[in-house]
Amino acid sequence: MDKIITRFPPSPTGALHIGGARTALFNWLYARRMGGTFVLRLEDTDKARSTQESVDAIFQGMEWLGIDWDEGPFYQSKRTEIYQQHIQKLLDEGNAYYCTCTPEELDEKRKAAMARGDKPKYDGTCREKGLEKCEGAVVRLKAPQTGKTVFEDKVKGTIAFDNQELDDLIIARSDGSPTYHLAVVVDDITMGINTIIRGDDHVSNTPRQILLYNALGYPVPTFAHVPMVLGADKKRLSKRHGATSVVEYKDMGILPEAMINYLARMGWSHGDQEFFTVDELKQVFTLENIGKSAGVFDPARLLDLNGDH
Ligand code: GLU
Ligand code: ZN
Repeated sequence: MDKIITRFPPSPTGALHIGGARTALFNWLYARRMGGTFVLRLEDTDKARSTQESVDAIFQGMEWLGIDWDEGPFYQSKRTEIYQQHIQKLLDEGNAYYCTCTPEELDEKRKAAMARGDKPKYDGTCREKGLEKCEGAVVRLKAPQTGKTVFEDKVKGTIAFDNQELDDLIIARSDGSPTYHLAVVVDDITMGINTIIRGDDHVSNTPRQILLYNALGYPVPTFAHVPMVLGADKKRLSKRHGATSVVEYKDMGILPEAMINYLARMGWSHGDQEFFTVDELKQVFTLENIGKSAGVFDPARLLDLNGDH
């Protein structure tokens, strides 16, 4: 079997929060368990929202937890050239095309589709036009129009999407910059990532990304989509539930090992054992034991756990 390579790709738009820390932990533990490699990548292409402060805060959170990375940190903002090369390859091989539809035209068609009760979708106007690069043109992926895109999720089982529902995804904006999906897939391919553990808010992105793997001619990684972290009231975790960034708990006197245990047990279990040392976790962590129901984060229980150990 190939060496396992996992990654944690936070967007540096804030501190390391509970959900992100759990994602980082699962990817790290799995890499450690399998004798693999854990890669850190900062998805900082959103220039307006990405800050160096957030980058530092993410490093600080990971350091406190003892989650060390083997490769990186890589910054998407420094990888423009690599994205351009892959966009060009898709164009050259006929898997992508220039589209000059204006936002107004697309908007009009979207409204018309909705009025008919259809799901709005790019209608492929420019697909076969063979347009050259020009001012204002975006690049779209030529997505299959029939069949299904199917993957075996390690947590959720078989997931299938009708290709008819998938758009001819925009992969480069009119200023030439890559879109989110293109950057993520090119990064994961060029960094050799073969196992992706991430929040299940990304499930609907996965078939689009699989189409990109196929078009670029690379094997699709293994996916494990982990249910989101919720607050004690089963609502999506937010500041209402208390501190959501991990270092706030450091400041409250929580020990990193208590935090690691709490994060690990939010969505993962191993028999009846309640508390694990980090070394034990590195030895027993498996994707198979990730649960199907949402993890619940309750600061009061974390404090209890901290007191007990
Ligand atoms: N940067 C994305 C996020 O923070 C992660 C994307 C991914 O895991 O593929 O949600
Ligand atoms: Zn078009």
